[in-house]
Amino acid sequence: MTTPSPAYDTLVVGGGPGGLTAAIYLRRFTRNVALVDKGHSRLRLIPVSHNYPGFPEGVPGPTLLANLAVQLERYGGSVLPGEILDLRIEDGMFVADCLPEGGPADAVTQLRAHTVLLATGVADVGLPVESWREAIAFGSLRLCPVCDGFDVLDKRIAVATGETNPIGHALFMRTFSSDVTLFERGPASMLDDDARRSLAAAGVKLVESPLLSVTLDAAMKPVLHTADGAEHPADVFYPMLGEKARSGLAARLGAATAQCEELVVDVHGATSVPGLYAIGDVTVGLNQIAVATGQAARAATHIHNRLPPALRAAPSRPPA
Ligand SMILES: Cc1cc2nc3c(=O)[nH]c(=O)nc-3n(C[C@H](O)[C@H](O)[C@H](O)COP(=O)(O)OP(=O)(O)OC[C@H]3O[C@@H](n4cnc5c(N)ncnc54)[C@H](O)[C@@H]3O)c2cc1C
Repeated sequence: MTTPSPAYDTLVVGGGPGGLTAAIYLRRFTRNVALVDKGHSRLRLIPVSHNYPGFPEGVPGPTLLANLAVQLERYGGSVLPGEILDLRIEDGMFVADCLPEGGPADAVTQLRAHTVLLATGVADVGLPVESWREAIAFGSLRLCPVCDGFDVLDKRIAVATGETNPIGHALFMRTFSSDVTLFERGPASMLDDDARRSLAAAGVKLVESPLLSVTLDAAMKPVLHTADGAEHPADVFYPMLGEKARSGLAARLGAATAQCEELVVDVHGATSVPGLYAIGDVTVGLNQIAVATGQAARAATHIHNRLPPALRAAPSRPPA
């Protein structure tokens, strides 16, 4: 059974840094906002981020997430734990089916909103790595060279060939270490002669026998196992897993998507569906916390300016 709710100015889907920042802005614009979050922000995986501005000693991802939630509460907002299962347009208004966390299937609530902002992020996909959560927490498995390349200066760095740019990440890591090894993923090489020459010129070692699995040694460092039976110890492994944007809600409404299913948005975060906005990792662009929060500021301000004015009533008695 579904229960209708009053219409919100904006429904924010996703409570990572993007969604939380947008909700803070919208609440400070005195907007009526609902934020629904399934709780899988990539921020939760970050042991310490050293590239987010304003934290000279670095900031653990979960701490930043908790601080943003507290900041939202300060302005009368809150996070509703749950999942938006479906999004549609009825009579010019967005209607979302929301399953509250832990609720039975028939606990679905309908949330109605004039605008919707998706900040649903991406899901990591790819190679199985033993105890991957612990390895990420320890820093021996890393998913984001832009985020933490500086933190592995002069380490033994292993990189797997990426789907779209097989050598790009290995070359990128040469900025940070002279000891970079690229591992092929499958029996058919992904590298042409130009790629091999580029690797050789940059001094990147190449292991052509396909990567089969990755285990962790007693010190939690990665050991890469290849099809020829060899074991290759490293200090840190960037699997270049690939990502899948969680853009299904928007795509089903006809929003334009690009490679890896990321949403195409304009400078304000507007998708091709009027009233539907998207920010952060789910959109085309650099997947970084600072980018998500910057996009949130732009989109929230644009949404506020596009909605009917929020006119403040006069105080009931003159201010002192
Ligand atoms: C190991 C690791 C280290 C990283 N290190 C850094 C770093 O040092 N610096 C940096 O700038 N970036 C770093 N990143 C990247 C950074 O985490 C992301 O760029 C950032 O979290 C993106 O924010 P977001 O709000 O777009 O998405 P996310 O933080 O991923 O949040 C999306 C949220 O939406 C929710 N959601 C999805 N679908 C639904 C739905 N249908 N209903 C309700 N909720 C939904 C998800 O559960 C999730 O909570 C790192 C990432 C990883 C994995």
